[in-house]
Amino acid sequence: DTKTLESIQSEISAHAVELLHLQFIDIEGIMKHVTVTSAQVEDVVSGKIMFDGSSIKGFSPINKSDLYLQPDLSTFCVMPWTKTEEYSEARFICSVKNPDGTDFAGDPRNVLKKTVKRAADKGFSISVGPELEFFLFETDAAGRPTQTTQDFGGYFEPSPHDFGEKVRTDIYKTLKQMGFIIEASHHEVAIGQHEINFKYADALGAADLSTTFKWVVKTVARKHGLHASFMPKPIAGENGSGMHTNISLFDIEKQENAFFDETDKKQLSPLAYQFIAGMIDNVKNFVAVTNPLVNSYKRLVPGYEAPCYIAWSDSNRSALIRIPATRGAGTRVEIRCPDPSANPYLAFAVVAASGLDGIDRQLEVVDPVDADIFAMDAAELKERQIDNLPSSLEAAINAFEEGDFGRNTLGDHVFEEYVAAKRNEWDSFRTAVTGWEIEQYQTKF
Ligand code: GLU
Ligand code: MG
Ligand code: MG
Repeated sequence: DTKTLESIQSEISAHAVELLHLQFIDIEGIMKHVTVTSAQVEDVVSGKIMFDGSSIKGFSPINKSDLYLQPDLSTFCVMPWTKTEEYSEARFICSVKNPDGTDFAGDPRNVLKKTVKRAADKGFSISVGPELEFFLFETDAAGRPTQTTQDFGGYFEPSPHDFGEKVRTDIYKTLKQMGFIIEASHHEVAIGQHEINFKYADALGAADLSTTFKWVVKTVARKHGLHASFMPKPIAGENGSGMHTNISLFDIEKQENAFFDETDKKQLSPLAYQFIAGMIDNVKNFVAVTNPLVNSYKRLVPGYEAPCYIAWSDSNRSALIRIPATRGAGTRVEIRCPDPSANPYLAFAVVAASGLDGIDRQLEVVDPVDADIFAMDAAELKERQIDNLPSSLEAAINAFEEGDFGRNTLGDHVFEEYVAAKRNEWDSFRTAVTGWEIEQYQTKF
């Protein structure tokens, strides 16, 4: 259903939309918006709304601060929680333009569009299905998040253990009204942890859906007096939250999944193997993007269904890359390191670009590892030549700066701003004195 100015105008009158929120994404993946009235919809659609880019993290310098918002019409939707008989609000997700009409290089959406184009030039579209996990926390009397989870349920546990079910149902209904196709919803392994899955889409669409998903989950949780968090490892000793990313290439000319090949013993095409090889070859150089926080590396440790070793397998949940059992049109590769604090636009760009790089270089894939990697000792890991993912944000940034993969994929502007922001974050953590240190050292020494 392609939307036009006319179809949007009729939705505006049908739902009495008064305010339009023009959303865009900063370099960390945080949603920003400016609000105008629906009387301005023609100006909005023709990209005439301007904003000050110098106040947005990683955007433009103060002397070149005027930027324009170009809404993606397909993202128009009425926000269900604002709806009454005679009033509602709607949003657009926008790309950012320079005053001369060219794409602004600092906009993460524009970065992903470049990788999408790179695939299209080879005859492929990129399908992405992300799985975002999150925690629900209680809030205190002042409405601030606490560290008490909203339930003590476990994997797939139903009510009454899972009080979160009511909230999940409400999230589901809201997402559905906003056009999401929801496939599953369940309690995750950790206390207070949940997952709701939506149908895969093209890479840009999937990044827009992920951004919208986080916003809706937080909004609906708040209505229930809860705080939803996409922080990767909120509770030590419990599973963290991942954003497993399922990805495949679709051959535009043949109109078929390019990863499926009936004749192969795993029913995967040569292209799929090259794509996996490219991911494995580049992963160390991109985890700074898929796992962007100091806290991200506290999730990537053995024993919590999150990967820390660089290996692939058909079914092994201790491996970095897994090939879900589905074949035919649903053939895909699942990379398990990304977490939901990542900027989805940049994360899908680096994951897709790493696979495309494997195709360009016709890389050969190493053998799969089907045994439980968490159970292997150092000697066995060494013998099998299984390498580790970077174990800290610092190690990840160092690897991100090596070679030209990061710079080529994100472009100079975003690459430099990103590295600077992450170095700052690491320095701030490195020089902080944490509760753990006080506990361990203050009285002992
Ligand atoms: N929560 C796990 C993670 O950190 C993933 C669990 C699952 O397989 O869904 O990635
Ligand atoms: Mg899960
Ligand atoms: Mg998964």
